[in-house]
Amino acid sequence: MSQWVDYRALKQSVGIAQVLSCYQVQVKPVGPDQLRGRCPLPTHGSERSRESFSVHTAKNVWACHSASCCAARQGRVGGNVLDLVALLQRCSIREAALQLQGGWPTENRPCEQLASKGSSSSPTPVRPLPFSLRLSWHPYLDHRGVHPATAARFGVGYYAGPGFLRGRIAFPIHDSEGRLVAYAGRSIDGSEPRYLFPAGFRKSQVVFNLHRACAAVAGRPTGCVIVEGFFDCLRLHQAGYRKVIALMGANLSEMQETLLLASFREVVLMLDGDEAGRCATRRVAARLRGRISFHIAEVPSGRQPDQLSSEEIEQILSGASGALGT
Ligand SMILES: [Zn+2]
Repeated sequence: MSQWVDYRALKQSVGIAQVLSCYQVQVKPVGPDQLRGRCPLPTHGSERSRESFSVHTAKNVWACHSASCCAARQGRVGGNVLDLVALLQRCSIREAALQLQGGWPTENRPCEQLASKGSSSSPTPVRPLPFSLRLSWHPYLDHRGVHPATAARFGVGYYAGPGFLRGRIAFPIHDSEGRLVAYAGRSIDGSEPRYLFPAGFRKSQVVFNLHRACAAVAGRPTGCVIVEGFFDCLRLHQAGYRKVIALMGANLSEMQETLLLASFREVVLMLDGDEAGRCATRRVAARLRGRISFHIAEVPSGRQPDQLSSEEIEQILSGASGALGT
């Protein structure tokens, strides 16, 4: 049942410049048919190289001459539009082609359609990342109440290198086996979107911090606290709750539900205290009812777990369940 893909037609019809603009990669004309800019590839590790990424629009090919990109690609310095999308989306050439064929967004259609594309028929499998980023401490973490030890424990930090995470606080995301599969980036200057995920990455396929929460359980299937966001997760950990996971949003996907049911005997829902969080709590509770023992932690109205002190967190959770421990 494999779908027919016309690679040649795609390579001719989908312009690299168009793809780049969709990924909000900035390149500027430097000559006839020539564009140049910062390398957007996740393989790019050289922080000092500037404008190493070039595109020949007439030939519809691209290249990055930095050592990191070449090394990651076994010496190849560039490629066609399919190679580019496969690298940006961390998928196979065929998957990239299917995405492009399935409807590359044109000017009238928002780029988000690409990210949501294929989620119904063939979700992109979560794959281990072949690289890791060098991150550093940033005062923003202090501003959010995160201690240096907590940031170090979670591998969270500021990313100054090239690519879509540049200038953001990056959160490493692991699969249930503890393999690094993606980074999410939180803006720190008020720019939108507040959180960026790599194109093609589906946060619904993983649960943030699940591998650590399971390690904390150490063979004893007990309870865990479910929160919405990365910072909630860090702050609960800091308050002494090692068994905490984040949904990376207010939705519980089918995959996340499966992972949680397989890992824990009991869960405590500690979603945000705003109206959206309350709705999400009702939705998730309805899903879990009868399938796993759960409690609802009463987060004060209008607040979210990462805004609470360790004492407040403890007070709220002490009423919720005895199965959590620390
Ligand atoms: Zn590069």
